[in-house]
Amino acid sequence: MEKITSLAKRRGFVYQSSEIYGGQNGAWDYGPLGIELKNRIAGAWWKEMTRLHDNIVGLDAAILMHPRTWEASGHVENFTDPLVDCKKCKSRFRADQIPQEALAAKKCPDCGGELTDTRKFNLMFKTHIGPAEDTASIIYLRPETAQGIYVNYKNIIQSNRMKVPFGIAQIGKAFRNEIVTKNFIFRTCEFEQMEMQYFVKPGTDEEWFSEWRKQRWAYYEKLGVKMDHLRWHQHGPDELAHYAKDAYDIEYLFPMGWRELEGVHNRTDYDLGRHTQFSGKDLQYIDQDNNNERYIPYIIETSAGLTRNLLMILCDAYDEEQVADKGNDDDWRTVLRFHPDLAPITVAILPLMKKDGLAELAQDIRTELKEDYATDYDQAGAIGRRYRRQDEAGTPFCVTVDYQTKEDGTVTLRFRDSMEQVRVPKTELAARIRSEIKAYKRIK
Ligand code: ATP
Repeated sequence: MEKITSLAKRRGFVYQSSEIYGGQNGAWDYGPLGIELKNRIAGAWWKEMTRLHDNIVGLDAAILMHPRTWEASGHVENFTDPLVDCKKCKSRFRADQIPQEALAAKKCPDCGGELTDTRKFNLMFKTHIGPAEDTASIIYLRPETAQGIYVNYKNIIQSNRMKVPFGIAQIGKAFRNEIVTKNFIFRTCEFEQMEMQYFVKPGTDEEWFSEWRKQRWAYYEKLGVKMDHLRWHQHGPDELAHYAKDAYDIEYLFPMGWRELEGVHNRTDYDLGRHTQFSGKDLQYIDQDNNNERYIPYIIETSAGLTRNLLMILCDAYDEEQVADKGNDDDWRTVLRFHPDLAPITVAILPLMKKDGLAELAQDIRTELKEDYATDYDQAGAIGRRYRRQDEAGTPFCVTVDYQTKEDGTVTLRFRDSMEQVRVPKTELAARIRSEIKAYKRIK
């Protein structure tokens, strides 16, 4: 994880927030490569969850919601972690994450000092809206994006004539006052979620639950993730959230071990039932194709962290490879083996020399490719070093412009994973890259 964190900073994927002031815990900034990667991961998910389904539509709800929302959802009452402090070293722990013997003996796992009693700590960030800081002005930063979907479900049925089963997808920020934030961007106080809520007829929920588990698994396969680094974890009775009938996590083998990447939950009619009760509005679905039968739909939720997905994609892509391409056994390269659809830069254009018109020729090629691809241009240093820099950024294709280009209009196309090079007429580059992306199969 240390290597990934340092590469992420060095290459401009992720920086610590407010670093010049010593950093802000639980918050991170996404640099030039990071924002590109994050946008592509979000784009791949959005395509998968909306464009490829005729009955799933998108939404972008506000982060600030009426405070009653969080009473209805159960978050005010239940969204807590058990917290203990060490009276001696002042360390703070989640009581469920330290050895239970230490907790029972009230002994700090770090220094052996005395621990406080366990108390419940609500993870929602609370603030005030308007100038008066009284209880009437309390407002929360949303701890999940899902509730924005539930409170809009009737609007969407009406405006888009949706029929059950149907889904609503949303990507957006969520905030949790996490007690322990560590492991880089794995668990942060400000993060992004990609959630899809699928509204189904009660009684068909178990079938849809298993269908969505299948689809979410297939999604990661399509992205070229190492499938032996993924597994399912079913929540036991003591893990199930207050709203869930059944829940499975997709876990990924991060450098610190198996951890949750995404949850697939059967949330039953809990949420819409509670919003009906708290808002006084009728949130039943009227099935016009079935004698106007009325019911509160069950909800199957797929809930993935976007920023956690980004960490997974970085870990999954990271590789150090002995290349020894110049007879030097000690020659290693660091390479990020991103799927070309996710790579922040798709094509880098490198003139062999700056002089003799090669730089201008390379710039012209870049201008042509720009319309279709995220490009980079690098003319500094030896060509081998430039390839290494692109490998480290995860760029799947490099185009080298040399003297032969001036003569016959061909360029060298170099592939990140195999390091193979082929000669291609520059007029065919865009199409060749497109077909390479379509045919891409992860080889390592
Ligand atoms: P955990 O048990 O890790 O706290 P959770 O079970 O509370 O997570 P959910 O409420 O199911 O998580 O949230 C869905 C997804 O949102 C998670 O699978 C994860 O990818 C992401 N997520 C949740 N909390 C955080 C966080 N603090 N930082 C980054 N991503 C998060």
